[in-house]
Order: sequence, then C-alpha cells, then structure tokens
Amino acid sequence: MTNNPFPSGTVLGYPRIGRRRELKRALEAFWAGRTTVEELEATARDLRLATARRLVELGLDAGSGAVPGSFSFYDQVLDVVALLGAVPSRFGRDAGDHARGSRLTLEEYFTLARGSGEDSPLEMTKWFDTNYHYLVPEIGPGTPVRFSDDRVVQEFAEARDAGIVTRPVLVGPVTFLLLSKAADGAAPDFSPLDRLPEVVAAYGELLARLAAAGAPWVQLDEPALVTDGHVPFGEVADAVRSAYGTLTAPAVGSGRPAVLVAAPYGGLQGERGDALALLAGTGVEGVALDLVRGALPAAPLPDLASKLVVAGVIDGHNVWRADLAERLSLLERVSELGAGAVAVGTSTSLLHVPHDVDDETRLDPALAGGLAFADQKVREVAVLARGLAGGRAAVADDLAASVAAVAARRAAAGVAVPAVRERLAALTGADLDRAPYAERAAVQRERLGLPVLPTTTIGSFPQTAEIRAARAAHARGELSDADYAAAMRAEVAHVVALQEELGLDVLVHGEPERNDMVQYFAERLDGFVATQHGWVQSYGSRCVRPPVLWGDVSRPAPMTVEWSEYAASLTAKPVKGMLTGPVTILAWSFVRDDQPLADTAAQVALALRDEVADLEQAGIGVVQVDEPALRELLPLREADRPAYLDWSVRSFRLATAGAATATQVHTHLCYSEFGDVIGAIDGLDADVTSIEAARSRMEVVPELAKAGYDRGVGPGVYDIHSPRVPSVDEVAELVALAAGAIDPRLVWVNPDCGLKTRRYEETTPALRHLVEATRRVREQL
Ligand code: GLN
Ligand code: ZN
Repeated sequence: MTNNPFPSGTVLGYPRIGRRRELKRALEAFWAGRTTVEELEATARDLRLATARRLVELGLDAGSGAVPGSFSFYDQVLDVVALLGAVPSRFGRDAGDHARGSRLTLEEYFTLARGSGEDSPLEMTKWFDTNYHYLVPEIGPGTPVRFSDDRVVQEFAEARDAGIVTRPVLVGPVTFLLLSKAADGAAPDFSPLDRLPEVVAAYGELLARLAAAGAPWVQLDEPALVTDGHVPFGEVADAVRSAYGTLTAPAVGSGRPAVLVAAPYGGLQGERGDALALLAGTGVEGVALDLVRGALPAAPLPDLASKLVVAGVIDGHNVWRADLAERLSLLERVSELGAGAVAVGTSTSLLHVPHDVDDETRLDPALAGGLAFADQKVREVAVLARGLAGGRAAVADDLAASVAAVAARRAAAGVAVPAVRERLAALTGADLDRAPYAERAAVQRERLGLPVLPTTTIGSFPQTAEIRAARAAHARGELSDADYAAAMRAEVAHVVALQEELGLDVLVHGEPERNDMVQYFAERLDGFVATQHGWVQSYGSRCVRPPVLWGDVSRPAPMTVEWSEYAASLTAKPVKGMLTGPVTILAWSFVRDDQPLADTAAQVALALRDEVADLEQAGIGVVQVDEPALRELLPLREADRPAYLDWSVRSFRLATAGAATATQVHTHLCYSEFGDVIGAIDGLDADVTSIEAARSRMEVVPELAKAGYDRGVGPGVYDIHSPRVPSVDEVAELVALAAGAIDPRLVWVNPDCGLKTRRYEETTPALRHLVEATRRVREQL
C-alpha cells in the first residue's frame, strides 16, 4: 500500500462550467473578441478555486487529494491532446514549437475544438453513454507526441497555494488512444495504440512534475475498460499492463504521485475479459469502481489486498437522492472484498449533473426532497464515509432521512397514473407496424411530388439574439403570451420565406419556439418538471438543462401543431412537422429509476403518437421524429445491447406507426459511426433517415448500401458544428459521393444537424451553396 493515505471520501470529478455558467460566458466573450486571454484565465482561476473551496465546505478533505482537479477549458480529451502537443498537421503548427515542447496557446487549443478559416476542427462525438461530447484526437505515425503542457501542474500548485491539496484528474493513456482515430493518410494497419510508449512517456513526465509539486495522488480515467469496443481485449490488456507498468515504475513520492485508475460508466469485469483483475495486477495504488452500473466483484481479489478501492456507490449520472442505508450495506460488502482500503466515491464524475438542488426555488418541495445534484451528492459521499468509518449509529439520522425521502418520492401522486398504465397494457404488435415501405413510398411520391435529391434541413434555424431576448422577456413576465407567440410566428414566417427564396424542397418552421428539443416537450407533458438552474455541459461552452422525468407521462394537449400548421399556411411546399423521439427524450432527461426504461419510453411514445395523429389531422404530410440519442444510450457491453435495441426501436415505432401510408416519416440521428446500430436503423422503419456525415466524408453511405438499406437517406453535407461555410464545390463533391454510393433516388440533401447554434451569416450562404450544389449534381445524374 502507498504511504499516501487516501481520504475516506471523494468524487471522481465536478461540474466545471460554473454554478451560473461563468465559464460559458467567459469563453463566449473571449471567442467574440470582447475579452483578453488574461481575463479568461482569471475567470477560470476564480472558478477553480471557488470549486475547490466549495468541495471542502461540503465535506471533502482539504489536505489529502480528496478534491478532484477536474477543470477543463473545453474538453478533457482535448486537454490530453494539448498535454501531448498532438496537433494534427493540417493545423500547420510550427514543427519547431513542438520540438521545443512549447505549450499550445489557448487560441491554438480552441482552434482544435472549433476550427478556423479552412481548418476543420477535430471531430466531436459522444462520451461513452452520456450526452457529453469529446473531441476525437487524430493520431498517426508522425503525429507529434511529447510532454508539452504543464497546465495540470500549475492548476495543482494554484490550489495548493490556496491551501487545498487536489487530485489532478486526466483521461488515462489507454482510453485516450482507444478514443483516438488514426490520422488521415496513416497506413491501414496503423492503430493509435501503436504510439502508446511515447504517450506513456509524456504522462510519466507529467507525473514526475506533479510529484515535485507535492501532489499525493493523480486520477487517470480509463472508462474504455468498461466497454466492449472494437479493439480485442487481449490488445487492451497488453496496453494496460505496459502503460501502468511503466507509469508505476518510479517510486511513489519522489518520482510520481500515487495512481488511482478510475473506471466510470460500468463494470470492469466483462465477458471478453476481466479488466479489474488486470488493473489489480499492475502497480497502481488504487482503483475506482462504478458500483452503480457495474456489479460488485463476485469473489474477493487477492491482488487488491495492497490497493485502495474507491467504491463508486453514489450515482454520478442521475439526480435522485440515494437510499444511504442501502448504499452503506453495499459499502460493507465492498469491505469484505479484501482490499487494502476502501473509500467512498461517486460512480462517475459529477460532470453530468447540475450543481445544487438548493438553487431550485420553484420546485415542488415533495419532488425537490427526492433530488440530489452535485453538491448533495458530495454530502452523501461525506455521510457514507463517516458511516463506513464510524458505523451506522454515527450517521443514523442521515440514513433515516434518505430512506424516508426515497419512499416519499415513490409514493407521490402522479408517479403511477392508472389511465396511462391501462393504455400501455392494451397495446399489441399491430400498433408497431405500418404498410410495407414500397407501398408507402409510391403513395408519398405521388403526394409530395419532390425532385430527385430533395433538399431539406434538420429542423431548427438560428436561434437569434432576438428570439432569445423574447423568450427571456416572456419568462420574466415582461412579454405577454400573445406577444411572445406573435414574435415567434413572425420568426416562422421569416424562416419559411427564406427557405422559399433559397429553393429548398421540404420546409420546416424553424423551431424558434423551442428553448431545447427535449425541454420543450417536457414542459408540455405531464410527468416532467423543468429546473431553473439545472445546466450541464454538453460540449465546450454548450450546456443543456435536462428536465426531470419523475412520473407517468401523458399529453394533456397538442404540443407542436399550431406552429407546423402556421408554417404550412405560408407556403405551397411540403412542411415537415418536427418531434423529438422517445429515446432522445429519455436520454436527455433525468429519468425515474423506479421502473424499466422500456416502460417509461413507451409512455412517452404514446404521447408522441397522439401528436403525430394531430399533425396529420392538420394536413401535415411529412413528420420527422428525431432520435439523435439512439446510439448514445447503446449499452457499452455487447451482452446488454440486444435488449436495449429492442425496446428503443419499439418505442420509436410505437410513436410513428400510427402514421398514415401517405405520411412520410423522417428520423434524424446525430452521429456518423453507427456500425453497431445499423440493424436498428432499419428496424425504425422510417421513410427517410438523416445522419451526420460531412466530417467523415459520407463514409456512412456505402456502409448503409452494403447493409442493404433501401429507404431514404440524408447524409449531412454541411458540418453545422463549425462556423465555416462550405463552398458549392465542396458540397457538390459530397452530394456526388453519396449519390454514387447508393441508389441516388434514395438520397436526400441536408445539413448534418439543426442550425440553431449557427448564425444567419453562416447559415444562409451555406444553404445557398447546398441548393446550388444539389442543382449541379442533379444535372449530372
Ligand atoms: N430537429 C432538431 C433541430 O434541428 C434536431 C436536432 C438534433 O438532432 N440534435 O434542431
Ligand atoms: Zn443532429
């Protein structure tokens, strides 16, 4: 065991965007050129210190590395790219800079994340099964890899000087490389893992510097070890042995801090191999286990006798108060595993939950009493740590209060609504089926009269400052319901006129009335409640405020019909109604944990099914049901996937299969690599599926063709995650690529995703190029 005592309780990470989204505001002001880099650094420093002090106030130890140093200016994976100076060559970084090991400037760091001029940014994708997005490193045989950035050390020193000994948190080397993609031009047999020795050497240098600065512990996150990924377990195991063998070779104290490897988002013991035994066999001093999603190891592990186990018994990924009596029992069982020491922890970083329930002044106290956000979870950890050390009697009141809170939540009115349950019980298989696709396609062709390569958008148009101001004024009660509705209708009219002018084929109303694609629906459905300050980081400065799904779901009234109907009244072209699908509504909400997700999804699906019927009734002939989160919830372990795909596909079909044969059902999925869910996409039985594809240059289209997919597909030809406007040539090339890879009669032309985060200055020319490029390719068909 290490001579660095570990604190009795910790959390694996803490939200970094700020209680009032201070970092978001500071980043956006800096990007807009309104503040200097020094001002941004100062805001970030204040935020880090305020966070560290708050964690101590909530009960974490100030002196032993209990407080995680988990700050990031943008993304924790990008931070490792910066640590290694692993900048792809297209960013044209001076080779000399790298040879000198000089650190990226913040401007360079943000360029990797956001692109600039002709440089497209790193690709962004979902972090495990969460709604957080990381930037995908590009590692080739020649990518520079060398210790280049001591920001982590400086942040440690800054907190230390303020009297708090933090535990720096970084993505571990194995996960970093498993999440990397091979750089363009790398040989087909190259794997980013080939660069492990150099990557580990850079981490080794960092660890040495942290030890010199006095850090007792460092946390390296290795969530890739809880997944069944594309790399065979044997190769992962070799990488783990090699990486942690090398990193733990120097002596603790002088050469390095003690190493805690954290494995959030699931269990380490998979069907393909046992990564817990693997880690236990390395020289690391501690392992943090996710005991919410992962099971307790069935047998004691002798190799753990010399190690610390941080038992992640408090869920870092949901917002419910825990039954602390039950959690303490689990901790007692962990103690029987024979580890050298047991500390209490969270299952994951608290990055995925809002800051503080106490900020929610408008919640029904009955509901608020059942919630725990980040700060409450830190307190739960502290209580359990006292209970583990001092016995149940030491924390009897806290245990009893938590048990009562959980019971009260389950018994609250609205949690079980008989009418909802009866409707669900009466469903049959026929409720999931539409007419055969060929029949639908013929009728829809006739009804819609679209050209080949029809153009459309994914739904939202830019959410302008005016829209946001009107919404804020409405929320403050300064703008009446009628005036707000009038402002939004004016926006719809503007968006429809613009689309007509641009010459798009299937129009949308632009979603100005939606604050968020899930929250909007949650506010209109029974069983949900919205928070005031419950923001969580989605990527970079972007935050979302997930609603809380606490009870049985039903739809008191139509939710979207007036908007689609109004848009349709302004044009002779087809207007696409726009709904968010059941899986996405679940994925982007905090969902009740007292019944199977499948049942909750089916309740949401039935509410949407009624909405589809009302849209049809209003004359809307195209309805899109967005499921951007379908892949996000895909279980990380292969064995769990079939059951998930079954209920998720069924819920989509339950939402859409009530549609008439002549109604064209679209869906939108927000990612490009979906090898794992290709069968499910077919199973959704949508008439048209739009997907992200611009950054991966349409890679997905030949994959779909190969899988025999034979319905409409709209691979995105314009990467909306970046402000860059693609040229006509560039878009035409992508459209031609798609039309050459699959039957061109199936191909739709659209952006990668909704346009709400973009500005009209970018959107209008980009869509103009999209329509022009389509026209060109049509002529060549
Ligand atoms: N219809 C939504 C929009 O355009 C879809 C967004 C998404 O998939 N994330 O904003
Ligand atoms: Zn999308």
